[in-house]
Amino acid sequence: MLTKEKIEQYNAEVIELRKPENMGSRKVLGYVPEFKILLETLAEHEYKACSSLICRCPVKPIKAGFSKDKGNDDGYNSKCKACDNNPAVAAASKQQKRRATEVTDATVTTAPFMHTETEAINNCLAPLHEAAGMAHLINLEFRKADTMARRESWMAPPNFYLPEQVKADGFYRSDGVTRKPNNSSWSTDGGGRATFNDCLGYEGMVMIFVKSRFADATSD
Ligand SMILES: [Zn+2]
Repeated sequence: MLTKEKIEQYNAEVIELRKPENMGSRKVLGYVPEFKILLETLAEHEYKACSSLICRCPVKPIKAGFSKDKGNDDGYNSKCKACDNNPAVAAASKQQKRRATEVTDATVTTAPFMHTETEAINNCLAPLHEAAGMAHLINLEFRKADTMARRESWMAPPNFYLPEQVKADGFYRSDGVTRKPNNSSWSTDGGGRATFNDCLGYEGMVMIFVKSRFADATSD
């Protein structure tokens, strides 16, 4: 049994998480990581938070507040009884889906498809080099290696760097809009597998493969 104060605190948390600025490109509240964590916490007390974007008091006892639904892991509908079949709830959800698509489109405009490898270098490789205490150079002069790295402690001439070739499989499919799934096993979704092109001809270099995905990627 949760105290009234606790429930109010969780309600406030849900209302904060579902604000458009916190939803970002996520189409449904269920994709927000903090909401998923909150659901796990509530489940321990046999409570659940309604995933509707306009629910007045989202946190309710699971058995009394939610209808049974075999399609969900916990056996209950993601929306509470008050929100289920409420047209206003469906309209709010539709509006968020539209907003999410707009946010995604805006991201595509600022991060075009061709920049996938640059993104992988900036967001993955550079922090890894730094964590390993290695100097990180982005190669502008040579045609082949994308980046170079060296450790100060190496017993090698000062200008000796390890050449690296980065291959990346980015967030979007070739249309530049559809998000690639992460680990879907459906081949129609693209299978979630990363594919890397033009991987031959880099003898003497370290090849680094980066698979980039949105944490909440889905096929729809
Ligand atoms: Zn509700």
